[in-house]
Amino acid sequence: MRYFSVESLKGDEAGHWTGSYRARHRWHISGVECPRFGVWAGMDAFPSVDLSEVAEPALSEWKGPMSLPEYKRLTALVRPFVPPELPLYAGCTFGPMVGTAQGKFGPVTCWPSWEVVLREDAVELLKVEGLKGVIAVRMELKSRRSTMPALYELEARPLAKLHPDCIGEFKTPACDICGRPESFDLPPKRWLLRSTVPEGLDVFGVEGACLHVVSERFIETVQRLGPSDVRYQELPVG
Ligand SMILES: [Zn+2]
Repeated sequence: MRYFSVESLKGDEAGHWTGSYRARHRWHISGVECPRFGVWAGMDAFPSVDLSEVAEPALSEWKGPMSLPEYKRLTALVRPFVPPELPLYAGCTFGPMVGTAQGKFGPVTCWPSWEVVLREDAVELLKVEGLKGVIAVRMELKSRRSTMPALYELEARPLAKLHPDCIGEFKTPACDICGRPESFDLPPKRWLLRSTVPEGLDVFGVEGACLHVVSERFIETVQRLGPSDVRYQELPVG
């Protein structure tokens, strides 16, 4: 199986579609101010995680970074509601995206570069074809056009890892004060570490990187619905 990351079009590439949206996830953990490294926040989005049982207003308020004690309190409160295989850090967002949308969307949209959105018929076709690991959460978008098809955010669980040889020197060490994991700049030439590629899944994410990885089969399936304004960049496995 070959794998590809879903990427936005480059600035000079013309797209087919006019669709755009403004939306935020229903819940989030703000950035944290670490005494050693300063303010930081990750970008992981887990729309399938439901925090409606957690009675904590701070999860739906969009304010600046939190103090370390407040961050530790919030993450402890949320952890029981997040599947154990998922990371839980500053900047994580949860639940459906809520907002507004306009224009016409292709089968797959990648905008901003770290979000991948599927049109309703793409989600259905992937399901009918029996693709595995497709977690698509319906976005709650208001639109002036009553005929706009529903849109779904594609969740990429960070199950795979980049090969250490492609990350090389671009690393920031983990922090034992705030619990920030080791981080790295996304290397321009990158490939997956074979032993971490989840077998049989057509969609997954990459630890420490904001990437939506899809299989060749995923691309062939959604392309049957016509063009999408995305690029697919092959991620070799080594
Ligand atoms: Zn720290």
